[in-house]
Amino acid sequence: MRPRLPDMYEIGMSYLGQKILSECINAHPQFWAERVFTPCVETAAILREHNTPLATLESDTPLGEMDVVGISLTHELCYTNVLFLLDLANIPFRSADRDESHPLIIAGGGATFNAEPVAPFFDAMVIGDGEEAMPGVLACVEKAKEDGLSRDELLRSLINVPGIYIPSFFEDQGAGQPLKPLIEGYESIDKAVVDDLNKINFPKGQTIPFNAVHDRLTMEIARGCTRGCRFCQAGMIYRPVRERSLDNLDEILTEGLAKTGYEETSMLSLSTGDFSALDTFFTQSFDKCASEQIAISLPSLRVGSLSEPIMERISSIRRTGATLAPGSRQPAVARRHQQGHQRGRTHRTCPPVVRQRLARRQTLLHDRPADRDGRRSRRHRRSLSQGARLRRTALEKIAGLGSGIAFRAQAADTVPVGTAKHI
Ligand code: SF4
Repeated sequence: MRPRLPDMYEIGMSYLGQKILSECINAHPQFWAERVFTPCVETAAILREHNTPLATLESDTPLGEMDVVGISLTHELCYTNVLFLLDLANIPFRSADRDESHPLIIAGGGATFNAEPVAPFFDAMVIGDGEEAMPGVLACVEKAKEDGLSRDELLRSLINVPGIYIPSFFEDQGAGQPLKPLIEGYESIDKAVVDDLNKINFPKGQTIPFNAVHDRLTMEIARGCTRGCRFCQAGMIYRPVRERSLDNLDEILTEGLAKTGYEETSMLSLSTGDFSALDTFFTQSFDKCASEQIAISLPSLRVGSLSEPIMERISSIRRTGATLAPGSRQPAVARRHQQGHQRGRTHRTCPPVVRQRLARRQTLLHDRPADRDGRRSRRHRRSLSQGARLRRTALEKIAGLGSGIAFRAQAADTVPVGTAKHI
C-alpha cells in the first residue's frame, strides 16, 4: 500500500492525514505503507530520460508493483498532478484500462466528496475518514490475492467496506442527472466516520521531514466543526465534531516530543479556539513546553475564540504563530455566511496579538453582498478599502517588531483556495 500525495514533498510532508493513515496501516503486521510525493518537473524529466518509473521513498519500489496506491485528494487543484503521477509510474490513467497486473488506485481526502470530475481515474474512493476504511480495503485485497479473485470480484468485495465508492458500479446519465446504480443493494454510500478519535492510532513518532513547510509536532485535537459558515466545505464534510480526551492529548504530546525532539507543537483542528477543553489542555501542557522552550502554535482561530491569558502564555514561551480568521465585518454578509456578527471584534482581538509579538497570518474576507451582475457594489468597494486599511494598520504596528507576517485576501463567496491572493 502506498499513501501518495499529489503534492510535492515539502507540502505533502506537512499534511497530517498521510501520517495518520500510514500509522493506522502499519499497525497491522500484514500490511506495510510507504510514501510517494509528486516530483518537481526537473526530477520528472530525469525519470523520463532514464525510463525509470516513479518509486516509493522508503524502499524505492516502482508504484506499478504495489497492491494498492492510495492518493490523498486534499483539494481540486491537485487533480492534474494525479495524472502526472500515474504517467510517471507507467500506470494507465483510466480505471477501465487497468487490469489485475496493476495496483488498485484509490482516492481519499476532502475532494472525494465531489468525486465525479475524477471518478474515471480511480478504482475506488474513500468518502469520509480513512482510518478504519483503509485497513478494511487492504483486508479485502489480501483475501482477493489469497483466493485468486479477479479485479471485478475484488471491487465487489469492497462494497461491504463503509464509505467506499466504486465509480464503475454507477452509470453516468449525463449532466444534472443522478448516477444510476448498476449493482443491486449498492445504491448509495454512507460517509465513513470514526466515532472515537481516542481509539485511533495517532502517529507520535512522526517522521522528521527535510525542508517541509510545517516542520513540527502536529496534534489533531479535534475533528469537525459545527459553525456552519456557508463558504466552508470542511465545516460541512468533517461533521460531527469529535474531540480527543485530555489524557490522550497529553500522551501524544509527551511521547511525540520525546520521540521527535521537535521544538514546536501545533494544536490542530478546524477551529482550535472552539475545542471545549482548550484552556485546561493549554494549562496542562504549558509547564511541559515552557521548561523545554517548546513553542505552541494555534493554526486556526476564529476571532474572539481565544482568551487573552492563553495568548500571553504562548508569547512567554517563544515567538510563534497564530492564524486568525476575522470573517466578514458587514453584519448582513456575516449573517448570510452564518458567521455571526464580528464587527469590531477583529480590532479588539488583533492588538494583543500584535503586542505579544506573534507572527500573524490573517485571512480577510472581502464581502460581495450585492455583486449579482458581476460589478462591485458600493458596499463591496468599501469592504475592500477597509481590508486594505486594516492590512496597512497591522503592517505599521508590526513593522517595528520584526515579526513575520503573511496576509491573504479572498472573496468570501467563491472557493477560498482558488481565489487566494498573497500580498
Ligand atoms: S468556523 Fe472555520 S472551520 Fe468552522 S465552518 Fe466556519 S470557516 Fe469552517
